[in-house]
This record gives sequence, structure tokens and C-alpha cells, in this order.
Amino acid sequence: MISLDSNITELYRVGKTTAKLLKKLGLETISDLLFYFPFRYDDFANCESISELRIGEAAQITGTIELIQNKKSFKRKMYVTEAMVSDDSGSLKVIWFNQPYLAKTFRAGDKLSLAGKVTEDYSGPTMISPVAEKISAGSLLHTKGLIPNYHSTENLTQKQIRYLMREAMALTNQVIDWLPSDIARRLGLTPLGQALELIHFPKSYEDITAAQTRLGFTELFLRQLKSALIKQELQGRQSIPIKFHEKETKEFVASLPFKLTGAQKKTAWEILRDLEKPIPMSRLLEGDVGSGKTLVIALALLNVALNKKKSVVMVPTAILATQHQQYLTKLFAAYDFKIALLTGSHKDEEAATADIIVGTHALIQKNVKFTNLALAVVDEQHRFGVGQRRKILDFNSLPSQTPHFLSMTATPIPRSLALTIYGDLDLSIINEMPLGRLPVITKIISEDERATAYDFIREEIKTGRQAFVVCPLIDESDKLGAKSVKAEHLHLDEVIFPDLKVGLLHGKLKPKEKEAIMAAFLNKEIQILVATAVIEVGVDVPNATLMIIEGAERFGLAQLHQFRGRVGRSDMQSHCLLFTSAGEKTSAKTLERLAALTKYHDGLTLAKIDLKLRGAGETYGLMQSGFPEFDILSLFDYEKIKDAQDEAKTLIASDPGLLKHPLIKAKLGAWENHAHLE
Ligand code: ADP
Ligand code: MG
Repeated sequence: MISLDSNITELYRVGKTTAKLLKKLGLETISDLLFYFPFRYDDFANCESISELRIGEAAQITGTIELIQNKKSFKRKMYVTEAMVSDDSGSLKVIWFNQPYLAKTFRAGDKLSLAGKVTEDYSGPTMISPVAEKISAGSLLHTKGLIPNYHSTENLTQKQIRYLMREAMALTNQVIDWLPSDIARRLGLTPLGQALELIHFPKSYEDITAAQTRLGFTELFLRQLKSALIKQELQGRQSIPIKFHEKETKEFVASLPFKLTGAQKKTAWEILRDLEKPIPMSRLLEGDVGSGKTLVIALALLNVALNKKKSVVMVPTAILATQHQQYLTKLFAAYDFKIALLTGSHKDEEAATADIIVGTHALIQKNVKFTNLALAVVDEQHRFGVGQRRKILDFNSLPSQTPHFLSMTATPIPRSLALTIYGDLDLSIINEMPLGRLPVITKIISEDERATAYDFIREEIKTGRQAFVVCPLIDESDKLGAKSVKAEHLHLDEVIFPDLKVGLLHGKLKPKEKEAIMAAFLNKEIQILVATAVIEVGVDVPNATLMIIEGAERFGLAQLHQFRGRVGRSDMQSHCLLFTSAGEKTSAKTLERLAALTKYHDGLTLAKIDLKLRGAGETYGLMQSGFPEFDILSLFDYEKIKDAQDEAKTLIASDPGLLKHPLIKAKLGAWENHAHLE
């Protein structure tokens, strides 16, 4: 008999070819199919007529193509496809960028369904880069009511998928709802089997919402459950309580050349209070690039050292490790703390006796153990895997002693989302920048403005400033034609700025060479530093005020924001210049992405824009697991997250080992096996 675990080929319409296509989508069993959710619904009943379109709003229309043609825009070096689409009420201009094939796919006379935002130009209402679908005579039968759309692959049509779903619907009554019915009742959640029917074949928007709420709850609930279990386990461990040295801490703060921001004080206080407890702290310190996180941890490190206990700080790159060690050494010059460095190439013999050990992944690889380790910090935590981060908890040589744990990130996420992703961590958020920081003036520079831009750079450098030039890839052999750092270095050094000192930094240099170059840049012996993405995280050279990014279109918004974060670290005005190299490859979306960077300066706003532009799958590096859109949306919904968290807490409190809830236990296990925890 056919069941949920049956191979998809058991379905009436699935032969070998179709099975292969479905496998491409990751669908092998009937159950896979049922849990393959639509990413969007078309509502043809709600189509607007062209004459009623409002500028600035999103809309869906159907109309006939009157005219369609490609143009080549030489100025912007891209293809532009222009179409005129009309219905009974009027006509509308439609524009796509860099999709010249569209002029072949769609022809005059075709009927189209278009969805997108309505803008306006000199000729009237316009839709730029709308989602477009041809409506054939046959599919019109399928355009009544709410029509699900699935991400598909070549040669597998929406219609085919819908037919298969129809067939699979017969099995929804076999789906076992693992969620206890009392929780479902309390939160008003639709039973799982029914939710599956509604998500694929909704009759109304209410149906969709009900289905999404139940299906989205799975992810929320399991995450919170996992967090509650981790927390419970940590509460059972012991760590070294760190006494707060108030007098010394105040003296230290007073000795700084600047005043702490309110947010720095608040977060430092939260951390110091946790450190006083005999159970391990488990905290995430979040603050945008340049917000001064290092200083906050310095206050924690200071107190640990004053208690004659040890701290370890783990960072993603050797450059950053060296920089932190130097920064801390300077900061703590008045104390006789030993601050050691431990990287792949640099094995400080003093690590065993040091008060503070700064290191890279090498710490994990070498399986280090320290006696009296009270505090473990992971900087730029998104560069480490969850497992790697957790390993730091075992660095104390006594298995019964767990270090207090502090994770740091510049990835700007709303509190609600942080609660979902890092539910097991308490949150400290730095939500303000040091006083006197000026937003970095950001500009997109076209090819004909390049020479002028170089003049500007030269002038800035003549006044004593320094510049970064970031290039996408290392070798000229790079087929994509990206500017290579080596070639760029040569060009800038010999042709453009022969009078200036231009240095080169890339990932293939030996660690010692990298260190020497960073030191030279910090000492102003190098004025322009040409680098690959290695400088992305954490590098702090306050005198550098120029960030020039070559091939800017190749980087994501998060990464660009990180690059830009390397400048604007003092009260001097900084600039970020975005050069694009792709020419014809620069799509409208890319331009929009770069334009967002020129307008906005805080990471959170940029993250939200990135979410919109890229869709859920690649959101700002937060999740790579390709959740359906609605999962992501529910991740932002604070109320729902709170509900899930409360239920998870209650459940764990009454049944710590989940012994009375075998279905949930099994579900959690399966989920952990294929979900990333971030
Ligand atoms: P991030 O949060 O990106 O790690 P850093 O800790 O590297 O930022 O700090 C950026 C720069 O700001 C450093 O040069 C640091 O010394 C400086 N800084 C930190 N706090 C303050 C403050 N309250 N006022 C002025 N400058 C500060
Ligand atoms: Mg930092």
C-alpha cells in the first residue's frame, strides 16, 4: 500500500524522467512532496485593471503584449527589454534589465500575468522587472482562485507539480501530528495534516495564514526546544565566579582617551554581572561594525585577570588575532598581564602561563587546555560553526569547570530573530555608535569617473589619510574577469600612484608576511593597502578613511557593509567608493543593492533590504537552509516566537528528558540532523 514513505514513483503520473526532475528539487518520497511548500500564490480573481494602478504600489495585472523589443543601453552597458502591455482599460510600459531572452520567450499577442511594483516615467505608469508568466489557453483553467507556485526546475511545469500534489493529498490523513494537542489547542493551531492540505490548495487567504502559522510553528518550536535543552544542560554546570573589581574598573575606564557609550556601559555591566555567578554565562554581544565591542570585552578580561584567572579569545583570522593582542597589550599597559598569541604559525610558549590568550582555530585544532580558565570569548562568531564555538567550552583543563561563554557578532539582527536563532544565549546589544562618528559617504563610481576618483584619493592621502582597495579575487587566470589583487596592486603602484606607497595583502601570503604588512599599514609606512576579502572582518585602522571596492557587484550587501566598516572609525570624514566592473552583467538588482549602501548606514536596515532583494534563501548570511519564505517571516514575528519559547520551556520543565514525549523527541532528532542551527 502506498504510504508517506513510499517512493514518489508510486504516484500515478511519475515516470523515470519526472522522478529525476523531482529529485533535483530534493523530492524522493511522498512525504517530501507534501512538505514542499509553494513560495507564492497567484490570485487571478484579484487582478487589477491597468487604468486603476497606483504609482508606488505593488500590483498584479493580466494583459496582452502589444510590442516587445530589446535595446542595448551603451551608457549603462546593459540590455534593456521593453514591452507595451495592455488590457481593456489602458496600457503599461514594462522593463526588464539584462534578460534579453525575454524578447524571445514572450511575443506580441501573448497574454501575460505580471506582478511587481508600479513606478512612473515620462511615458506614464511602468513596471520594472516584474515577475512575468505567460498565460496559455490551457493554463487559464488553472487561474481561478489562489494558485500555488512552486520553485521548480527546467522541464518540470507548475501544472505537473500541482497535479502531483493533488494526488498526494489523499495521504494527508496518514500524517501524524507530533505536536501535543494541548499546545495546538492553546495556540489555536490547525492540525498538521489539514495544514498540509491548506498550504497546497487554499480556498482563501485565511486558509493560507492558518496553514503557514502551523507549519511555521514547527521550526520555531523545535528551535526553542533545542535552546531550552542546551540552557538546561548549562545550568547544571559550574564555572569560576569572577568578583567585580569596581575601583580598578572605574580607574581603567577613566584612563581611556574617550568616554564609553551608554550602550557599552550597559552591555559591559550585563556581562560583569553574569561573570559573578558560579554557573556559566552564555551570552551574545551584538553590535554593528565599529560600535566598540572590543572595549566591552576588555572590561570583562580586565576583571578576570584581576581575579588571577585566565581568559581566551578566539578570532577567525591570524591578522585579527595579532591586532587584538596588540590592542589589548596597549590597553592593559599599566598592568602586568601576560597576553599571549596562539595561531597556526605562531605558538607563543607563554600561552600556558598567560592571563589572556588570543588565538585562531588553532586553539581548537591543538585541543588546548588551560587551568583556571574562567572566560571564553568568540569574536566574529558567524565565522565559526556552531560546533566549533561550543568546543571552546571544553578548554578548561578541569572537566567540571566550564568557562563563562561570550559570543560576539556584528551581524545585525532584530531582537526577535536573535531570540530564534540564538535562543540559548542571553542577548546584549550595543545599539549606539561612539560619539562624533560621521556616516561614511558612499558613492557608486562609473568607469568615466574613475580618473576623478583617483585624483580625490590622492588628495586625501596627501593630507595624511590612508586607503583600502578591496578586490574580489587573487589571480589573473580568473576567468570571470574580476580585478585580481596582484594586477591591481601593480597597476596602482606603478601607473596610478607611483608617488605613493602601495602595499598588497592577500590570503596566500605567509602569516608572518601578512602580519608585517598590517603592521606597516598601521604605522603609516603603507598609504594604500590593496587587499582581498581578508580584511573583511574586524581590522581596525582608525587613520584609514578611504575604502575603495573594485568589482563591488560581486559582493553581498553584508560583506560590503563589513568592508565599509573598516573606515569611519574616527571623527574624520570617511568615504567608500564602489567601482563596478561587470558592465553588462550589472543587473538592476545589483544596482539597487549598491544604491542601498549609498543611502543607508546601519546594518539592520541593510539586512532588511537584502532580505527583500535576495529572497529568503540567502538572507544576509543568516540562514542558508532555504526555508520557504513564510518560515522566514514567522522568524521575525516576536509574539509567535514568545509563544513557542514559553511552550518549549514549560514542556522541558515538566519533562526534562522528553521521556513522556517520544514523538517530539524523534522529531527533534530528525530536525537536528538536517537543519542548521543558524
Ligand atoms: P567593533 O565593534 O567593530 O569590533 P572595535 O571594538 O574595533 O569595533 O572599535 C572600533 C574603534 O572605535 C576602535 O578604534 C576603538 O578604540 C574605538 N572606540 C571604542 N569605543 C569607543 C568610544 N566609546 N568612543 C570613541 N572611540 C571608541
Ligand atoms: Mg571587532
